[in-house]
Amino acid sequence: MGNQQRLLGKNENQDPISATQGFLFDVDGTLVLGDSDSNGYRMLPGADSVIAELRRRALPFACLTNGSGDTPREYADKLRAAGLDVTEKEMWTPASIAARYLKARGASRVLVLGMPGVWMPLKEAGIEVLLPDDPPAEVDSVLVGWHPEVRFRHIELACEAVWRGAKLYVTSGAILFATHRGRGIGVSGALVAMISKVTGKRAAIMGKPAQLAMRTVVASMGLTPGNVIVVGDDPNLEIAMARVAGSHAVAVLTGLADRSSLDALPPERRPHLILGNVGELLTSGLFPASRA
Ligand SMILES: [Mg+2]
Repeated sequence: MGNQQRLLGKNENQDPISATQGFLFDVDGTLVLGDSDSNGYRMLPGADSVIAELRRRALPFACLTNGSGDTPREYADKLRAAGLDVTEKEMWTPASIAARYLKARGASRVLVLGMPGVWMPLKEAGIEVLLPDDPPAEVDSVLVGWHPEVRFRHIELACEAVWRGAKLYVTSGAILFATHRGRGIGVSGALVAMISKVTGKRAAIMGKPAQLAMRTVVASMGLTPGNVIVVGDDPNLEIAMARVAGSHAVAVLTGLADRSSLDALPPERRPHLILGNVGELLTSGLFPASRA
């Protein structure tokens, strides 16, 4: 652990091990690597052992991807196919966070730029979804997600809705993500950049590193951020989100970041601990004793 745990944070006077009651994992570059079009996953070393050990000790965990190409159910299925024992309830996407948030805000009709993984969670939450090729109708919100089939007309429709007063939301503002071939382009971040540029309106981010995402997922485990260890590969997503929330932040080197880029971060944005891969959690000393 060493001096990296001496860095600041809201819960710095708390011993991270005794405070830990659960884990929040990033997916791509942390537990698995996927194709850039997200068909199929390859498990990263030790990920299955970590999940199995959490089960054995009855410690809660959640997985939070910034991907919205699939529903939480489909992501959980893919993770299980890759050898990871993850259930639908433990799997979160920005779209499932958006569904909960938009429902609570009373959104009634939402224009969605995205695949079924983006709009299905909204529909399941009872929100009316308008897709770009549907007959036109007024919307109170626009949600931009994983939408590789975009056409220019879709961008126009989103801009026109925002000009008429619809609120703008995006699943992920990230421009890049880790794949087994290297960098993949984040479709939703690229699309919303166009819409924001045209309309002058910034989008509210539903996924990482938004604190909304952190609060929603941590609450689903019945925990608070100070009791959760966040594990991820992206300094701008999981690590940033964890540091702001006051969680213990663990970076892994199996995705976007290398050790020198993490070391170069300003102290308040650095992870508390850097591991070669997620499997090293088992010998990191960060696992608390069994619950119960
Ligand atoms: Mg990642």
